[in-house]
This record gives sequence, C-alpha cells and structure tokens, in this order.
Amino acid sequence: MISARGWAAHSPTSPLVPFSFERRDPGPHDVQIKIRWCGICHSDLHQARDDWDGSLYPMVPGHEIVGDVVATGAQVTRVKRGDAAAVGCMVDSCRTCRPCKAGLEQYCDEGATWTYNCHERDGVTLTQGGYSDVIVVDEAFVLAMPNNLDLSAAAPLLCAGITTWSPLVHWKTGPGMEVGVAGIGGLGHMGIKLARALGARVVAITTSPAKAAEAHRLGAHEVLLSTDAAAMERNRRRFPLVLDTIPVSHDVTPYLDLLDIDGSLVIVGAFTEIVPPPRGTALVGGRKRLTGSGIGGIRETQEMLDFCGTHGITADVERIDIATVNEAWARMQRGDVRYRFVIDMATL
Ligand code: NAP
Ligand code: ZN
Repeated sequence: MISARGWAAHSPTSPLVPFSFERRDPGPHDVQIKIRWCGICHSDLHQARDDWDGSLYPMVPGHEIVGDVVATGAQVTRVKRGDAAAVGCMVDSCRTCRPCKAGLEQYCDEGATWTYNCHERDGVTLTQGGYSDVIVVDEAFVLAMPNNLDLSAAAPLLCAGITTWSPLVHWKTGPGMEVGVAGIGGLGHMGIKLARALGARVVAITTSPAKAAEAHRLGAHEVLLSTDAAAMERNRRRFPLVLDTIPVSHDVTPYLDLLDIDGSLVIVGAFTEIVPPPRGTALVGGRKRLTGSGIGGIRETQEMLDFCGTHGITADVERIDIATVNEAWARMQRGDVRYRFVIDMATL
C-alpha cells in the first residue's frame, strides 16, 4: 500500500483536518499521480456537509485533480511517467452497461464510482479525493492534460469545465445562438468562457451587480441581473438554452420565462427538491423543457480538455495553501470567490 496524506471531514459539522490514509499499489492498468493542484468545487462542501444525504466519512474531498504521473502499471498505454495527468469526478464505472458503452460513464446503470464519498467497486473500500498528495486511478479514468495550459488554472476544467461543456455541446451551442448562464461562480464562469469559445452570444445572469463588469471580461456579451424584474421581463422568450448553476433550491419559473419556444433550462446545481415547483404555464406556454445534466463522460472530458488546449482556456483561480481550506469553503459559501479556489498541494 501507498501511504497518503490529505485533509478530511469526519462529520457533517466538523472542519477539514489533516488525515493519513492508504492508496492501493498500482495494478497493471493503474496510474499513480503525484497531485500538484486540486480545485475546490461547491460539491465538495455539499458532500462534506451531507447536503445530499448518505455522505461517507472520513471524507477527503476534491475532484479537480491535476498532477504528475509518477508510476504506471505494466499495461498502461494512455500516459507515461513524467506526463501531466488529471482525474475528475469519477474513478471507475461498470464499463459494460449501455451508458458506459456510449461514453456516458457518469450515468452508469450501476452508479459510477465517484472520486470520493463513494465505495470502490469492491463495495468496501472508501474512495478518497484530491485534497491529498497522491492518487491511484485506472488509466481508463485518467485524462491527459494539454501541455500548453497552466496546470493550476486548468484543474477546474475537470469538473466546472466538463459540467458546463457537456450541456453546451449537447444542446448544440454555436454561432447564431444566444445562451444564458445563471450563477457566475466556478461553473458559471467556465460556462461563459466555453459558450463564447463555441461561438455563441453569451448573457451572464447573476444576482451580483459587482460581477457585471467581470462577466464582460470573462467573455459575456451582456449581463442580466436576475433581481431586476423589469430586466428579466425584457428578456422573456429570448434564449434557446439557459444553464442554471445556482447551488441551492430556488424558484426556476423566472428562468423558464427567459426561454424561447422549445427552449431548455438545464439544471446543474440544485440536487435537492426544486422548490417551489415550476409554474405549469411556464412550461406549457412555449413547449419548454426543464432538464438537467451531470458532469460528462471520459471521452467527452478529454475532448473538452483538448478544446481548452487549442483555445487557451483555463479558469480564473485563486491559489491557496491547504491550511486555509476551511476559510476558502466559508468564502465560497458566501459567494466570495473569483472564480475558483485551487489548492497548492506542495503546501500539504
Ligand atoms: P459556486 O462557485 O459557489 O457558484 C455558485 C454561484 O451561484 C454563485 O457564485 C452565485 O452567482 C450563485 N448563487 C449562489 N447562491 C445563490 C442563491 N441563493 N440564489 C441565486 N444564485 C446563487 O458553485 P459551483 O462550484 O459553481 O457549483 C454550483 C453548483 O453546481 C453546486 O450546487 C455544485 O454542487 C453543482 N455541481 C453540479 C455538477 C453536476 O454534475 N451537475 C458538477 C459540479 C458542481 P452570482 O453571484 O452570479 O449570482
Ligand atoms: Zn465539482
């Protein structure tokens, strides 16, 4: 076994604290990665706090992992020692069901093996995430990093990037299309950058007037303040697609009203009940869709990384020492992050 060090939550109410644990020795198909950077996703906080129920402790969060390959099993072909490599939200899946065969491992019939807060496929061993110094992952779930991107700023692509990329591509975002992105945090700011790079006209939809100027810098053509009822009314029936990254349950009807006929409101943030339920006429009056999307498959994640390499796209990050991780979580909860915290694992 490999001894690993990280920071873990031990209950829904306890802060993250230093924690030692073990990783398996790399098997023939495994890649051992020395973690250099790990992004902080709002999902880390939700799961540590058991917001979605069923959390498993001790929990080392982190699923925006980049680092260096330090060892590979004999059968590994995708990466080699010394390469920069990455791991996102999944470390395995059944690999045989219809979704897995279609490259939709995140929707595996048996449930994907999440990078943390999950059991390995043996049903016993807890997975542990990237707020740690080393990880061992089957090469089928390891991503190759483009060599022109700053690794610390690229780490958030592994979750914030793919979670916005997948619905943007699924709903055929491109030139001539207007896309709204609601909630300009880690996911939302990537949604703006990616939708813009795909050629769409992008409108940032925010509750924060202070983010208006920054949204333009991130690539938004326009900003819509969701708290301004008159402005929301002027944008009725405008968008074929709105990505909703708001991390809590909220009234979705005002966002449905922004959709054009046949438009789709894609929920990526609210995992618990959607309260209040949408107004029926907001759906019926325009054949609208209230839908959702979860991360993206492995092949699709590699495509997104390669696209970001070609277009030079990374996240706007604030690099932090792991000693300040609890403070960073508190700031994220207050919406005080521009736009992703990334932990420097050298500080572990
Ligand atoms: P984040 O960085 O905290 O950003 C969320 C943004 O939503 C905030 O910056 C804020 O933007 C807005 N917001 C926050 N509270 C709000 C409220 N009460 N009402 C309206 N707007 C609010 O979070 P994130 O890391 O981007 O994650 C967003 C959500 O996506 C989380 O729930 C996370 O768990 C989920 N997620 C889902 C997937 C998936 O596969 N579907 C993957 C990763 C994360 P403004 O200031 O612009 O309003
Ligand atoms: Zn995430």
